[in-house]
Amino acid sequence: MSDTSLSSLAFFRELHGHYGQALSHWRAQPKVLDAILQIAWHSFEDNVQLQCEGLPDLDCHKGCATCCTLRVTATAPEMLMLARFIRAVHPALMARGIDLPARVADVDARTQGLSESGRVAARQPCPFVAQGVCVIYPVRPLACRGLASYDRRVCAQAASGRVDAIPYSEPHMRVRSVVQNALQSALRDAQLTWGSYELNQALTMALRDASLEQRWLSGEDVLHPAQVHEVDPAEMAHTFDRIRALA
Ligand code: SF4
Repeated sequence: MSDTSLSSLAFFRELHGHYGQALSHWRAQPKVLDAILQIAWHSFEDNVQLQCEGLPDLDCHKGCATCCTLRVTATAPEMLMLARFIRAVHPALMARGIDLPARVADVDARTQGLSESGRVAARQPCPFVAQGVCVIYPVRPLACRGLASYDRRVCAQAASGRVDAIPYSEPHMRVRSVVQNALQSALRDAQLTWGSYELNQALTMALRDASLEQRWLSGEDVLHPAQVHEVDPAEMAHTFDRIRALA
């Protein structure tokens, strides 16, 4: 096992413990969403900063949304927090002519059922890009946080189908993976659904029915129709159990 995988394992277990404490403290209360996502976002930012020390500067910048045509997946707590955020900012954005729930439903209707490669080919921008900016930036999914590029010209070439490989920051992808997987493992241990869901389909559901948050907190698999299986769930569960057994 390499040093990187050893430190990733320690990071996973530490995070798993923090998530577990928050899930047990807040149980089925709405506050649990805030608690676990604050752990996820702060852990991601702090660790990525450490792991990027000494590496070249990123080429991502505000106003560039070139990668925001990719399919995005996220966990249920991320989706439910996004739904909360959208409801809160909806009046202010409507005053600027931006109807986020309608945009999400529209993109869902255009992209539902497309594979990851089909989604790339469709080049459908994310519904949250407005004037080149992500309008839900503070609560954007871990998947978005984990994509950072060293060369935005290559991103543009990839978006137009001229190149395949983008020079993504490896620490961003690795830290995102550990932060998300530890969260999924802790949700599983708390007997909450722990899958990954397609952003627009899951959000359309969560925005149409405000009761989904409390039902998810009670253990219901409320976003099931939007679930995607990037990795076999049985294989993931087996890995989580093996990591627990190493403790
Ligand atoms: S949520 Fe924000 S960062 Fe993520 S794809 Fe959409 S616009 Fe881009």
